[in-house]
Amino acid sequence: MVNYTLERISTNREVDQVWDACLRIIQQHIPEQSFKTWFEPIRPLKLYGKVLTVQVPSQFFYEWLEDNYVNLLRKALDYAIGRDGLLEYSIIVDTGNEKHQPLTMNVSTQKSPNYSKPDNFSTDPRMGATVREKDQDSLTLDTYLNPNYSFDNFIEGDCNRLARSAGFAVAQRPGLTSFNPLMMYGGVGLGKTHLVQAIGNYITNHYENKLVLYVSSEKFTNQFINSIRNNTLQEFTDFYMKVDVLAIDDVQFLSGKEKTQDTFFHIFNHLHQLGKQIIMTSDRPPRELQGLQDRLLSRFKWGLTADLQAPDFETRIAIIQKKIQSEGISIDYDVIEYIAHSVNSNVRELEGVIVSLMAQASLTRRNIDVELAKNTLRNIVMNEDKEVTIDTIQEIIADYFQVSIADLKSKSRKKEVVYPRQLAMYLAKEYTDLPLKSIGYHFGGRDHSTVIHSIQSINLLMDETPDVEETLQKLRSYFK
Ligand code: ADP
Ligand code: MG
Repeated sequence: MVNYTLERISTNREVDQVWDACLRIIQQHIPEQSFKTWFEPIRPLKLYGKVLTVQVPSQFFYEWLEDNYVNLLRKALDYAIGRDGLLEYSIIVDTGNEKHQPLTMNVSTQKSPNYSKPDNFSTDPRMGATVREKDQDSLTLDTYLNPNYSFDNFIEGDCNRLARSAGFAVAQRPGLTSFNPLMMYGGVGLGKTHLVQAIGNYITNHYENKLVLYVSSEKFTNQFINSIRNNTLQEFTDFYMKVDVLAIDDVQFLSGKEKTQDTFFHIFNHLHQLGKQIIMTSDRPPRELQGLQDRLLSRFKWGLTADLQAPDFETRIAIIQKKIQSEGISIDYDVIEYIAHSVNSNVRELEGVIVSLMAQASLTRRNIDVELAKNTLRNIVMNEDKEVTIDTIQEIIADYFQVSIADLKSKSRKKEVVYPRQLAMYLAKEYTDLPLKSIGYHFGGRDHSTVIHSIQSINLLMDETPDVEETLQKLRSYFK
C-alpha cells in the first residue's frame, strides 16, 4: 500500500514532531552543552516525503555538524523517519534573513555522506562583496560599498557614540546636516571603515538617486596618478565631481602627496559648494596629520570631527555576542567574559580571536570553553610574537615559586602565596595592556583596588629589599 501521507508536504506540526523525535535521540547521546550549542539553534523547516529540511545558522555551523555529528544524525533519522529518511540543510548565508538555495546533504549509515551543491552556492558567504573590486583602479561607477557593513551590526558604546550618531545623522540627511565634512578618526581596527561604509550603504538603500562613492585614499591616489599618465585628468575630476556622497577612507595616506591633495582640494570645494556630503576617515586627529596642506586641514574643521576609541569592556562583550550570534554559535557567558577581559586592543583583533576560536573548536572537535579560549589566545599571541599573556605570567610565577595557579587565584592569605600573587599582578600590569579591572578578573575575580594594592606593595618592597628587583629580572628573562 502506498503511504500518501508521507508524499505531501507535511504540516508544521508533523515537521516539528519529526524533529523533536530526532532531538530526543540526539540528546541521549551527547553532553548537554554540545546539545545546546549545536542542536538547539537548528530549526526544522519542512518535511517533504522522507526529506527533512532543517535550517542551520551558518556555513560554519553546517560544516561542524557534518564533521562531528553525521552518524548521530543518521541514527536520529533512522528512528524518526526510517532508514530511507534524508536530511537537507538550508544554510543562512547572510546575517540577515536572506537564504541561499539549500545545500543538500544525504546522510546515510551505509555509505559515506553524499552531498549535492547547487552551482551558485558560494562557499564563503563573505566573499560576495569583494568580487566587485576586480577592476582595480579604473574609474567605474561602482560604489565600492560592501553590504556587510551596516549600522545594524555596528555595536554602539561610549567609545564610538559620537561618531556613530553623527554618521547616522549624515546617513539620514546627506549634505543637509552641519556635519559636512564628517571626519572620523581613530586607531586601527576601531571601526572607521565599517562606519563609513554603513553610511554609504544606508544612503544607497534609502535614496535611489544619490550617487555614493566610497574610495580609499590609496585608490584615489592611484587613480589620480593613472589619469596623469593617461592624460585623463579631466575625466578623473569630472567623475568625482558628479557624486552626491564622497567617502574617502584613511586620508592620512595623502600625506606628502601634494599633487593629489591639490586635486582633492578642488573636488572637495566643488562638492561642498553644491551641498554634497563628504565623509573622511583618518588614523589620527587632523592636527596630527603632518604633510597635509593647511588649506585642506582647515576645510576639515568646517564640519564635525569625531573620534573612535578602543572599545570598553561592555562594548567588547556586546561585539563578541553579536559576532558569535551572526556565526550561529552559542558560547557560554564565562567564555565571552574571558575573551573580553583578555583582548582589549581593537575590534579587529577581537574578531580574529573569535574566528580562530571557532576554527580551533572545529579542528579539535571540542566545545568552546574557557580552556579552549585560553589555548587559542595563547597561540595567537605567541604566533604574532607580540606580548606575554596573563596566563603565561601565572604559569611562570607558579613554576618559579612552586605554588599552583589555583593558589594564585585563590583567596589564600598565606605568605607563600601572597607574594607570588602580587608579583604576578605587578608583571601583568607591566606586560599586558589590560586594565586593572581585567587583571583582577584573571586573579580569581578580584577588584581593581586589590590590583593597585598589590602593585604598590611590590613597589614598597622593592625600596626595602634589593632581592625583589633581582627576582623580577629573573622572571622577566623567562618571558623572552
Ligand atoms: P578601521 O577601519 O578603523 O581600521 P574597521 O572598520 O575595518 O576598522 O573594523 C575592523 C573590524 O571590526 C571590522 O570587521 C568591523 O566590522 C569590526 N568592528 C569595528 N567596530 C565595530 C563595532 N562597534 N561593532 C561591530 N563591529 C565592529
Ligand atoms: Mg579602515
